[in-house]
Amino acid sequence: MAAARVGVLRESTAGERRVALTPDVVSRIRNAGVDVFVETGAGDAAWYPDDEYAQAGASIVDAASVRQTADVLLCVQPPPPEQMRDGQTVIGLLGPLLQPELMRDLAARKITAISLDGLPRTLTRVQTMDALTSQASVAGYRAVLVAANHFDRFFPLLITAAGTSKPAAVLVLGAGVAGLQAIGTARRLGAVVSAYDVRPAARSEVASLGAKFIELTSVESGAGEGGYARVLTEEEQAAMQAELAEHIARHDVVITTAQVPGQVPPVMVTAATVKAMRPGSVIVDLAASELGGNVEGSRPDEAVVTTNGVTIVGAPNLPSSMANAASAAYARNITALFLYLVREGEVVIDPSDEIQRGVVVTSGGEVVHPAVRALLHLPPNLPVDGPDESDPSGRRVADSNTGSGS
Ligand code: NAD
Repeated sequence: MAAARVGVLRESTAGERRVALTPDVVSRIRNAGVDVFVETGAGDAAWYPDDEYAQAGASIVDAASVRQTADVLLCVQPPPPEQMRDGQTVIGLLGPLLQPELMRDLAARKITAISLDGLPRTLTRVQTMDALTSQASVAGYRAVLVAANHFDRFFPLLITAAGTSKPAAVLVLGAGVAGLQAIGTARRLGAVVSAYDVRPAARSEVASLGAKFIELTSVESGAGEGGYARVLTEEEQAAMQAELAEHIARHDVVITTAQVPGQVPPVMVTAATVKAMRPGSVIVDLAASELGGNVEGSRPDEAVVTTNGVTIVGAPNLPSSMANAASAAYARNITALFLYLVREGEVVIDPSDEIQRGVVVTSGGEVVHPAVRALLHLPPNLPVDGPDESDPSGRRVADSNTGSGS
């Protein structure tokens, strides 16, 4: 059996500086009997030069060669369809719930799509693969630095001969991975930090970081499935916005991170609330997107100053702005998943595996992920709870599309 070949392209999404593999993980992949092909300059924007990949044993080739040679493409964001070859496997943060049609198109081309977004994150053994966590952590840290950069005052309490400067009052809305990292970072800069999340479980996590949890009386628990938040009803959302408004107006800096997987982010800060904030206040909206974010008036990748002097920064891809560290963590995550999927040099699709059921979106020419099938109005596929009963050996079935062509 010929060894599988892994390819890494230069990311082509506008503004994306991360790279899927860093030189330090290349040898780990090669030790599994897999050859690594990296497009010339793929790591440049994240400060990983070609010669470091070459020293680690990767072949540096042009994009066309990666496309032709690789059985498996490792990416951060999905490559453009023309950069993928029919029958290839692509592994990355593919956002299948936000782009179900892309998944259907990949299935039609017999491309096996495997997305890190779908990892069952509560399983301890997926922690090394958890790219959502590693990237959210970078985003939360960076959000505070972005806010501090736009804020025209100090974050810490400063007592000097020229007077005393009060510490900045920072409010973090959404206390998941990014929010908790933002709380810790703002505290380390000396700010006084408060936070709110609709999941009651966040309360103790916020408190353990030394921040004050804001209790809202108008909203019941918003805990949903798998540790995520649920979508609030319109009434709940309006009540939350109204009750949060007075808290927001008292803060100098607001960092919003609220997300519900596969859904448009909830609006937490309305335009009227922004109007009530003091001039010089700063909002950083990590959920900003073309579909809308947590803050009315935020625009992705832009800093807008409102007529009342509030700066709203739309920051949907902060991991890319810290591409070196974000790529280092991402590369370890995607390598851990890839090595988990590889048997004797080949990616092996096993629908009975709990982790694979979460991450494998398309296989064998079909969209197989239940949630993506539902979005595409496809009938549910048959549940697979264990090894295929019709196959008494219980052996894993190699997907013919992912092989090395041997
Ligand atoms: P996320 O990015 O989906 O959302 C960010 C935060 O926004 C969440 O805390 C969510 O509750 C909050 N939110 C959503 N709607 C809101 C609203 N209307 N008002 C206020 N807050 C709102 O979440 P995440 O950071 O990926 O984390 C999701 C969950 O997964 C958390 O419970 C986290 O602890 C858990 N998690 C567990 C593990 C593990 O067990 N190993 C690893 C990572 C994350």
